[in-house]
Amino acid sequence: MKVSRYNYPHQLGEGVEELMEDFRRMLLGGHYILGEEVGAFEAQFAAYLGARHVRGVNTGTDALILALLALGVGVGDEVITQANTFNATVTAIRAVGATPVLVDADDHAFAISLEQLEDAVTERCRAIIPVHLYGKPAPMQPILELARSRGIAIVEDAAQAHGARLNGVRVGTLGDLGCFSFHPSKNLSAAGDGGAVATNDPDLEQQVAMRRVLGQRAQNQHVVFGLNSKLDAIQARILSHKLPRLDRWNEQRRHIAAMYRQRLNGLPLRFQSTSADEEHVYHLFQIRTDRRDGLLAELRSCGIDAVVRYPIPIHLQPAFDDLGWKPGQFPTSERLANELLCLPIRPDMTEAEVGLVVDYVHAFFSGGT
Ligand SMILES: *Cc1c(COP(=O)(O)O)cnc(C)c1O
Repeated sequence: MKVSRYNYPHQLGEGVEELMEDFRRMLLGGHYILGEEVGAFEAQFAAYLGARHVRGVNTGTDALILALLALGVGVGDEVITQANTFNATVTAIRAVGATPVLVDADDHAFAISLEQLEDAVTERCRAIIPVHLYGKPAPMQPILELARSRGIAIVEDAAQAHGARLNGVRVGTLGDLGCFSFHPSKNLSAAGDGGAVATNDPDLEQQVAMRRVLGQRAQNQHVVFGLNSKLDAIQARILSHKLPRLDRWNEQRRHIAAMYRQRLNGLPLRFQSTSADEEHVYHLFQIRTDRRDGLLAELRSCGIDAVVRYPIPIHLQPAFDDLGWKPGQFPTSERLANELLCLPIRPDMTEAEVGLVVDYVHAFFSGGT
């Protein structure tokens, strides 16, 4: 690839020698799971987010499952989310035995459609999971108002939006619980799997803390159902090392996104909408065109690591066949699945790399390739 989507050595940031020394100390000292390093990262991430509590867990998927378990969501309950999300959001709902209820996407923001959300709420609805998709904050104010008025909990899927802000407040702290993933592809990433749940509610924090250790209140006292889902100390140490650099990296992502928007202006393309009250962190940079498949093939053949996120909406995935969703049921999500394309975006991307991508996109639309 001439322009790739990831640069793992850069992601590890500066000061890697100091990290290696710490790894040696930790490996020889038997610091493997939870413990001091995880506690330090939890406190650091909570301070960064402006949340009262953070608990480190095994993955972003587990963070969502544990958040729903903490709320007591289970069999017979409904949980609403959007049809254009990553599989994990819906898998988490099913994992606790609840029924996922889908809402279509907004055609401009690619967030959960506010128009359809209200109609999807039934007596059985216990929670809504808005997704801060691609790093753009979901429209939390109206979602929170609806949820509060109906006694429904909000679990934010912030797996793609570490550091994003809405009216100056970090996402993941606006609802009852916020869920993060530290998968290597994410804006804040471990060297393996990792996840976290943030909350301002001490009771929910207690629930998550117990339920990530098989429901134990103290050793051998298993008082509720739980998972075995803990953050590794090594991963926490890496996350503590990277977190002070996250805002700079997100700023660089915004700078690259601005270059793309400016230099692709005038082509028959659309972009994810933006609004003045938000700070997008561009986990992914999306362009939208009805010539998507041709452009994708062209870019990839030129060595540009463009990809589609996500080519099949949730309601058309075979894993969910038993839920009875039909093609055409969520038309905006289907259009987005057919028309969106991610251009490479990395904090360390050079202007020359952006220029190369832009030139190939221009060439495609001018029929030059
Ligand atoms: C990555 C992701 C998850 C799941 O995170 P894992 O750590 O891979 O389990 C959940 N939701 C969204 C929107 C994601 O992008």
